[in-house]
Amino acid sequence: MTIAARRGAVRARNHTANAPRYTWPVAMHCCYPHITLRKSMRLTTIASFILLLGACSAQPPRTTAPTAASVSVEVQEIRHPEGETAAWWFRAGAAKAAAHGAMDGRAKNVIIFIGDGMSLTTVAAARIFEGQRLGGPGENHSLAWETFPATGLIRTYNTDMQTPDSAGTMSAIATGAKTRAGVLSIGQSAARGDCVGARAAPLLTLWELASVSDMATGVVTTTGVTHATPGATFSHSAERNWENDAELSEQARAEGCIDIARQLVQTAYVRGFDVLLGGGRQHFFPAAQRDPEYDDQAGAREDGLDLVKQWQHRHPGGVYVWNRTQFEAAPADAPLLGLFEPGHMQYEYDRPNDRAGEPSLAEMTRAAITRLSRNRNGYVLLVEGGRIDHAHHGGNAYRALVDTLALSDAVRVADQTTSAEDTLILITADHSHTLNFVGYPMRGNPILGKVRGGSGEQLSGELATDGIDLPYTTLGYANGPGYTGASNSQPAGPKTYPHTGRDYTPAKGRPDLSDVDTEAPNYMQEAMFPTSSETHGGDDVGIWARGPGSAAVRGSVEQNAIFHLIVQATPRLRERLCAAKLCNPTGVPVELPKPVEFAPAAMSPAAP
Ligand SMILES: [Zn+2]
Repeated sequence: MTIAARRGAVRARNHTANAPRYTWPVAMHCCYPHITLRKSMRLTTIASFILLLGACSAQPPRTTAPTAASVSVEVQEIRHPEGETAAWWFRAGAAKAAAHGAMDGRAKNVIIFIGDGMSLTTVAAARIFEGQRLGGPGENHSLAWETFPATGLIRTYNTDMQTPDSAGTMSAIATGAKTRAGVLSIGQSAARGDCVGARAAPLLTLWELASVSDMATGVVTTTGVTHATPGATFSHSAERNWENDAELSEQARAEGCIDIARQLVQTAYVRGFDVLLGGGRQHFFPAAQRDPEYDDQAGAREDGLDLVKQWQHRHPGGVYVWNRTQFEAAPADAPLLGLFEPGHMQYEYDRPNDRAGEPSLAEMTRAAITRLSRNRNGYVLLVEGGRIDHAHHGGNAYRALVDTLALSDAVRVADQTTSAEDTLILITADHSHTLNFVGYPMRGNPILGKVRGGSGEQLSGELATDGIDLPYTTLGYANGPGYTGASNSQPAGPKTYPHTGRDYTPAKGRPDLSDVDTEAPNYMQEAMFPTSSETHGGDDVGIWARGPGSAAVRGSVEQNAIFHLIVQATPRLRERLCAAKLCNPTGVPVELPKPVEFAPAAMSPAAP
């Protein structure tokens, strides 16, 4: 029987009302000897069985992905959330990764890509968007990571928030322990903004561990490099917004807390990052120093420090660049610090208009890999598509999708320039957003367009209309500045990017989109209710992987387990933790590392 014929048979059987159970014919025994489908099973489930059986019908039967050997780690039962501690999270994450077989990994290098706010809906919409740009219907297209062999789901909540923020989520990925929203790489025992508590609860990060393991380290992002995601790599802060010294409270300063930019440069972990590329220039220069790209802007530091000079002092031969021309001319055999904007870098869509010119995320990724791969002990690199999140907050799906494609380009570069024999590549998101993908658009309908297909599940080819006879778009947001009531800055009706509204007037019904170009880059999707900034979502995000250790990336996993999937799969990292007596008898790092034991000096000696 052909697959098509089987499918027909299954559908026909499924629609036979008086047949309660369905048993596959004996000929289907190659993968599963006996599969009984209940009548209540949905067609999608049946379809996946068909795919499975289709694959197994080839002779000889294909084996599944390599199974990694499971290692058992005991984890104490606790009460949630009262019993949770950083040490408990660390051990629980280690147990999950070990059970998945991460200890089988033999990775030399690790590259972790984060799509900030890249929900599964964003991935699906971006895949279609790119496929349609290439002239196809889009739905069958794949982003760079969607062909990777390993996939799983990540639970993103923070210890104090059902829907998380980027600081708490990246801290979980960076340290192996979940923590609160708003803090960077400190345990949950310290409240947000509590300087004294934070100084007592720092957590060792993956990048710090790599540095003390004689590996090279790098961070690449399109946001400011002191923003939550990159900030969690080499800094420990009670407040993600302490990006420069002027942003610290009097009390925090008096209690000895240090801003994120200064921590990134003065880190006590060997010499810190070898490559750092992104925005956030203002946080590295004194207020008296004029910005080189924008005459009306200056540094933000009140302490007079020039952190770029300090970094160069720590990295003899290290090159600093702030525009595309300098970036392209930088030597490939020297450490590299690139700060391309005073704040965040441009959205990929707006990048061609940048005054001084900026490299793309893919170009920065290539530059980082070129330099880091010179270290024969390997490297750990973070690459963040950081502004997918910002475009979503701004209620503008166009820029969010274009930035997602820029991340896909960067992943493709990494996939092509590294070997799956020695480099583990992971792609995930820190948290979701409220982007919705709705209606019944027909196959190939423009993803940013109005729904053309049907108003119900019947396909008509006409513009679908809502209950008041008005067309609607496939993509929309549950909340945000795309709300169509009048705001303090734009009249009632569809909003145009950029729009940060407040003092909204309730919308009277919905706008008529018949003559509105919803595919225009500045069109803002409708939001169900108004907020000045669209919010994050609390649903799971995806994780994709290839390379040594990737077979352990599967199932439904807490976000902090990502750290353990990486560390356990990278012998150099896990052995460093075992050397500090943090491993159990089977060699799994299970005890929470004390940062002071890895970097006895509190901070690097003062530089110029
Ligand atoms: Zn956000």
